[in-house]
Amino acid sequence: MSIPVLKIRTRLSEVRYEIRGELARRARELEAAGRTLVKLNIGNPGAFGFRAPAHLQEAVAGNIAAADPYTHQQGLPAAREAIAAFHRARGTPNACPERVFIGNGVSELIDLSLRALLDPGDEVLLPAPDYPLWSAATILNDGVPVYYDCRPEHGFLPDPAQIEARITPRTRAIVLINPNNPTGASYPRVLLERIAAIAARHGLLLMADEIYDSIVYDGTTFQPLAPLAGEAPCLSLGGLSKVHRACGWRVGWAVLSGDPIACGDFHHAMDLLGALRLCANVPGQFAIGAALHGEATIAPLCAPGGRLHEARRAVIEAVEASEHLSLVPPGAALYAFPRVVGPAARGFDDHRFALELLETEGVLVVPGSSFNVAWRDHFRVTLLPEPDVLRDVFARIDRVLSRHAAA
Ligand code: PLP
Repeated sequence: MSIPVLKIRTRLSEVRYEIRGELARRARELEAAGRTLVKLNIGNPGAFGFRAPAHLQEAVAGNIAAADPYTHQQGLPAAREAIAAFHRARGTPNACPERVFIGNGVSELIDLSLRALLDPGDEVLLPAPDYPLWSAATILNDGVPVYYDCRPEHGFLPDPAQIEARITPRTRAIVLINPNNPTGASYPRVLLERIAAIAARHGLLLMADEIYDSIVYDGTTFQPLAPLAGEAPCLSLGGLSKVHRACGWRVGWAVLSGDPIACGDFHHAMDLLGALRLCANVPGQFAIGAALHGEATIAPLCAPGGRLHEARRAVIEAVEASEHLSLVPPGAALYAFPRVVGPAARGFDDHRFALELLETEGVLVVPGSSFNVAWRDHFRVTLLPEPDVLRDVFARIDRVLSRHAAA
């Protein structure tokens, strides 16, 4: 008897997550065959020698005996109070523990919050390029991604007029990824004020993915959205993964702000969906208070002489020295998003290039079009390796591009 083949969800065919896709699979094959690779596809601090700060590790280890029970679906009260206090200090209006939701990373909260918001056919305004989970979660919650452009010609900044022009009666939310993955852009205050005013005018939820919030370089500042949104409903997302180098602990949070009446039943919906999955990973929640108390420990790494600062500098200098690349220098976050220019860009295909780079030079990058843009001339690297590794990587990239230019 032949067993019938399982059918999976049809809409999955529309979903992509190439950061861990075909190229990553090919990389594993090459490694299994003995190749040594430089893998720059994931912003995974722990894979590049970064450790969570010792006082966070102690907070988890010291409380492990208290971490057996489920917590409240929104998270441990003390952790939620720490998040609320952190948000009050940065000016989020009326931040209180009752409006904080702790999740298994920001990833889970992106999915949960879109599930709380969307009916089939509802639209979500997303940046292009985006962090592809946002598109995937929109689609898998039966929504429709509608993109606004963040082009290199404009420093990867969005145009509020275009955002407003793309609003329809089905639009439910405007998503901002700030600081941005993959572009490294950090949005100025006036721009955020204009977008917040648009959301308020049209009754849309602002969703601010601020997971890279204090990873800023060379005088760039980070402006949180919620303080500018005032009474407009705003969900601010942050977590331990990047700023606190603990992505394996799976700890993220969402803070709801804005007029409770305007927020309608959104709070209740998040609470219900949170309850259905019981609670987030408990041991990691014990680190939240330690993480948010005092100065962010990421700051010295981003300052001159710090590892991330020097890695970023190495990439900027390598691009400047290359005749085949251009770059909007990333002001923030953990990535550079260079563009291939000149003769090497003729007939360039980012996927073919990424595969060739992997096979011939042993370097794994993410093709730019993986971030839901039609352009095929960008690629993303993470800034997490040692500066010397990045210098060597860009020499290898230049070798491949020189062959393209000569072809
Ligand atoms: N949002 C952005 C913009 C990201 O880059 C990432 C991870 O790379 C996430 C969310 C997911 O973070 P978490 O580890 O908290 O699930």
